Amino acid sequence: MSIIQLTKRQEEISQIVQEHQPITGEKIAEYLKVTRAALRSDLVVLTMIGLLDAKPKVGYFYVGIDDQKNEYNHFKDMKVSDIMGIPLTAHQTESVYDVIVKIFMEDAGCAFILDEEDYFCGVVSRKDLLKASIGGGDLSKIPIGMIMTRTPNITTVLEEELVLEAAETLVERQVDSLPVVRYAENGKSKVVGKLSKTIITKLFLEIKE
Ligand code: ADP
Repeated sequence: MSIIQLTKRQEEISQIVQEHQPITGEKIAEYLKVTRAALRSDLVVLTMIGLLDAKPKVGYFYVGIDDQKNEYNHFKDMKVSDIMGIPLTAHQTESVYDVIVKIFMEDAGCAFILDEEDYFCGVVSRKDLLKASIGGGDLSKIPIGMIMTRTPNITTVLEEELVLEAAETLVERQVDSLPVVRYAENGKSKVVGKLSKTIITKLFLEIKE
């Protein structure tokens, strides 16, 4: 099925039209034992989403939603690995100053921080950098590891997770991006990508086009 959720009433209308098409609005109302006016908004919704077609003086026809043609269906099955972006990374010993420069150069919104063995150990967002900047210290001497949000307090996603679930996580956790990680046998993780609100917004537009 499509991701469009019909109400019980809309399901009933669609069922009646499938069985009795072409059928007038009055007749549908009769079957449901309601007034024609009570059905008006549901009929508008159903014709607008393309489930029903209305022909003047004839009545309603069932069109149905062809799942193959429904772009949202494709979106629904998409995995994080299909759309993830390239992460900006820095080592925890690098200075706050250097990470600020990197973020500007790469036009990134955050940086994922790695330990000396290149395992993932933290995140810094733009706000973290602003906070450090008004703190008054010498930014070229403060290691980024001192100001980052540290693992395990970081929400991550895996490559095989669904984009829809990851989008839900982004909204729930109120962060701008999620590191996409792959776990090693020692329980530590490597960053293999990023999933940001920007990436999801772009995908949304692509689907529309
Ligand atoms: P902004 O700085 O624009 O508010 P975020 O909302 O992404 O950006 O970050 C807010 C705070 O959450 C920052 O302190 C950042 O270090 C932290 N953070 C960023 N991404 C994550 C994440 N995936 N999991 C946990 N904390 C995060």
